[in-house]
Amino acid sequence: MEPTPARLLRERARLNPDATAYVSDERRIDFRTAEREASALAAHLDANGVGAGDRVVVLAKNSDFLATSLFAVSWLGAIAVIANWRLPAAELAHVFDDSEPVAVLADEAFGPAVQELRQARPGIRHVVVDTADDYRAIIADARAHGAEPAGSSADAAVIMYTSGTTGRSKGAVLTGANLYWSAEGMVSTIPWEPGHRFLLVAPMFHIGGLAPLLANVLRGTATVFLRDFDPAAVWRTIAEERITTMMTVPLMLRALTHVAGLGPVDASSLVNVTCGGAPVADELAGAFTAAVGVPVQLVYGVTEFTGAVAFRLGGEGAAHAGSTGRAVFGGELAVADPATGQALAPGETGEVLIRGPQRFAGYWRDEASTAAAITADGWYRSGDVGRIDEDGFVRLVDRVKDVVISGGENIYPAELEVVLAAHPAVADVAVVGRPDETWGEVPIAFVVAAPGTAAEGLEAELVEACRAKLAGYKTPKAIRFVEAIPRNTLGKVLKRQLRDEERAAA
Ligand code: ATP
Repeated sequence: MEPTPARLLRERARLNPDATAYVSDERRIDFRTAEREASALAAHLDANGVGAGDRVVVLAKNSDFLATSLFAVSWLGAIAVIANWRLPAAELAHVFDDSEPVAVLADEAFGPAVQELRQARPGIRHVVVDTADDYRAIIADARAHGAEPAGSSADAAVIMYTSGTTGRSKGAVLTGANLYWSAEGMVSTIPWEPGHRFLLVAPMFHIGGLAPLLANVLRGTATVFLRDFDPAAVWRTIAEERITTMMTVPLMLRALTHVAGLGPVDASSLVNVTCGGAPVADELAGAFTAAVGVPVQLVYGVTEFTGAVAFRLGGEGAAHAGSTGRAVFGGELAVADPATGQALAPGETGEVLIRGPQRFAGYWRDEASTAAAITADGWYRSGDVGRIDEDGFVRLVDRVKDVVISGGENIYPAELEVVLAAHPAVADVAVVGRPDETWGEVPIAFVVAAPGTAAEGLEAELVEACRAKLAGYKTPKAIRFVEAIPRNTLGKVLKRQLRDEERAAA
């Protein structure tokens, strides 16, 4: 079989038609129904002119609608652009203009925004909205698509736009083979069993939310969708649906850990929880386990690798603190000098390179960025600074673009952030470089003071705390006290924004 999302769903429906595929709002759908609904939506899109290679934007919160949209688009050999519904209008317009969709599938709440986008874009020939008389009527009618799923596993199946934390958002093209191997890599590396019940609450417009859906179909695991993250609702769903596992980002794990206001939680069904997508402090993982008695596995995830790159299993934390684990099944990790591309030895710090069948095909219509991101040997240049120990465990240090080069010395902002974050007067912190005539660049710290701390003398105290723990040249040249550190939906600091603010103020 040429694996594509639609064919994976077909295979699962053939083998386990009665097993639960989705729990979404009030609906419980088995794999037979999931396949039938995908086929019905595919037939409808086909009748409205969607064909192989066409792009179809999907703008929806986590639900059976989003899943069925993905499989229906794949059925036709078309390409699903899973768009981030949290994007401001201008950035969403960029996704539309860059991917040039012929159709859009949208939640009811996004219907008006889609109609507006459509007005200026005659290329959009058809829109399906998740309402009773549109999408729900299409699947209720359930006229199956007469033809088998189209396309080969080498064809583009999905375009995911990257977070854009380091530059303009680019469309990462993921093939059927990428998605298949991403699912295979996960289920072959961490415990992932047919009897599990997976809570899908991380937004599916991030690869960390989308990839588990395919792993669940591959494995025959039930997917329970939640549209929004609300800690109380998550704990309620875990108890009611007997959830065994879920994928979180650090912001979510923190909110789920501080359960005090929620009263006692029932975590008895949970086997483990995965956390990643942004740096996860060992203390955070430890605090969650201490609070609810469930192990946390860490994941290093990258859109361009169709999700999971490395996992650290629950039991590996003690021996490998500070690491995010070993390469996922099918994946390879290496470290190279970011300037020369020269391979580095275990323990040496450089740019993390990633290779394997999960590696994306390239950026949508952007050959220059693709050529810059993939080496001649097929490695993806992650832009992450890290090192790999003799046992193959990778430790991420920072991002290449965030490294501050001061007087020829590398300063990893993450090092300063750890020292500053440990100070009791600091609630949140981010460090970026500012151009400097003498040193080239100098580090500047943005700090959110903890509630109730006296501002007087705090700057000097924080600078002193850094000087006591770090080399002199790493001491921040200024501390800017701010109300909040700008972060994206995964909790990643928007350093580009901070650098721009610092330059504008200079
Ligand atoms: P852009 O490429 O547009 O700037 P982005 O790099 O944030 O966006 P994503 O693919 O969403 O795009 O995120 C991947 C990055 O997230 C990784 O390269 C890494 O820097 C970070 N990351 C993911 N998981 C972890 C983790 N467990 N620990 C530390 N960092 C992580």
